[in-house]
Amino acid sequence: MTQLTSGPAISPAFIDRVRARLAANVVPHFIGGRWLPSQRGETFETLDPSTNRPLARVARGRAEDVEVAAEAASRAFPGWRRLTPKTRKACLVRIAEVIEKHGDELATIECLDAGQVLKVVRAQIARAAENFRFYAEYVEKAMDGRTYPVGDEWLNYTVRVPVGPCGIITPWNSPLMLSTWRIAPALASGNTVILKPAEWSPLTAGKLAEIFEEAELPPGVVNVVHGFGEEAGAALVAHPKVPLLTLTGESATGTIVTKAAADHLKRVSLELGGKSPSVIFADADLDRALDGTVFQIFSLNGERCTANSRVLIQESIFDEFVARLEQRTVAVRVGHPLELDTEVGPLIHPEHRDRVLDYLAIGKQEGARLVAGGVAVGSEGNYVAPTLFCGRNEMRIAQEEIFGPVLVAIPFSDEADALAKANDVKYGLAAYVWTSDVGRAHRMALGMDAGMTWVNSHNVRHLPTPFGGMKQSGTHREGGDYAFEFYTELKHIAVPLGRHPIPQFGKR
Ligand code: NAD
Repeated sequence: MTQLTSGPAISPAFIDRVRARLAANVVPHFIGGRWLPSQRGETFETLDPSTNRPLARVARGRAEDVEVAAEAASRAFPGWRRLTPKTRKACLVRIAEVIEKHGDELATIECLDAGQVLKVVRAQIARAAENFRFYAEYVEKAMDGRTYPVGDEWLNYTVRVPVGPCGIITPWNSPLMLSTWRIAPALASGNTVILKPAEWSPLTAGKLAEIFEEAELPPGVVNVVHGFGEEAGAALVAHPKVPLLTLTGESATGTIVTKAAADHLKRVSLELGGKSPSVIFADADLDRALDGTVFQIFSLNGERCTANSRVLIQESIFDEFVARLEQRTVAVRVGHPLELDTEVGPLIHPEHRDRVLDYLAIGKQEGARLVAGGVAVGSEGNYVAPTLFCGRNEMRIAQEEIFGPVLVAIPFSDEADALAKANDVKYGLAAYVWTSDVGRAHRMALGMDAGMTWVNSHNVRHLPTPFGGMKQSGTHREGGDYAFEFYTELKHIAVPLGRHPIPQFGKR
């Protein structure tokens, strides 16, 4: 399991070199193994969220660019699926090695472009490599086929085969980790890929394309088309040669993509938003509950799908626990993402910062009690102070995904009340329960509407286990071999072992 560790500082000279390189060249698309500008020659700017100054220009893809990428992925598909598993496995392992080789450059780019802090980003880069190593192991393994012997007469069996070019659309919050988490199982099962990274943090996807080239992945097996959701993203969703689509993003985008994909009856896997509860009973180890809850809301700047953005606290310990949360919240270190001791960096984009600040105003208008934070920090960049409100579950700040460093504390009376409040949201991604009563821990875990529950723990991901959400948080489970239910077609094959009777229509 990946541990959070800052490692050594990245030297200012190295950071300057990375910045200079980003500023010097437009990041192109990577299609069919070639580096291409947009056919219309259009580009867009990506900003450094710590200053909102331009960081790089990136090719702005449209339908015609997606067209070329879909063609390239279709052409590469037969060759890639027919490679021996040993060769395909070796490709995935090489990608992991090259990711590790470029770890510091990837970390610098991700910190500068996504505003995520170094210790988190380093763990995510280790995880990006691990995603390829983990799925490389599956390439040669048996994949969930069954046999159905029927007496001496028949053998029926199932096999899993790849589906074709897979469109992978990713969000801006953990771009490298989340794209590799989809690309690796797609490739392991023999599909080809068109990646459309988010427009607010596209730069590690550009570097990842260089890594695919260096790892000698055959041309067209992974293609990267940059651009906006409504342009390149929508074109990918609509393209007839892309039968598989995964979207990680907001629930509202999930609805749009599902409707558009329905026109082509595509298979769509959605990983969407969350408003996950951390439920703290009076009998919990409160020191650990405090650590876990504070980490699980403020890590990744609060821009984390599995953030526990609601903390439900038993009434008898409510005031005491809120006081401890306050102490920790005001002490969380906000700073530049590349500084070693920073815990919360800038939010991704001024538009997103304003959205988060709007929610802070909404919370105050709704009558929630502001306990800590609640303001923007500094004179430049998108920094927002880690914020703690005391409120009620029906408030908008407790119902809607804010996707920033904002925690809402809500009291509950007993287990039934905790369960009702935990489930009274439209989302169902993750849940965290803190108690020393084993029976209650399991009852809560079974009862809560959550695709994933951690008992007495923050989110510690174990790759073989299923990842995904219920309700408006998603439609599928990925992770481990659950991913192959999505990335493969299950085929049934029937073979007569003898000469069974065949009806003889038309025989005179
Ligand atoms: P978003 O929905 O705005 O964008 C996600 C991606 O979809 C981007 O690449 C965007 O360009 C693309 N897109 C937007 N409109 C599109 C359209 N009409 N057709 C095709 N593509 C389109 O999400 P975001 O703001 O980038 O990311 C934050 C959201 O992602 C949050 O809701 C968060 O909870 C969610 N998220 C979920 C998970 C998970 O695993 N469940 C993980 C990380 C983030």
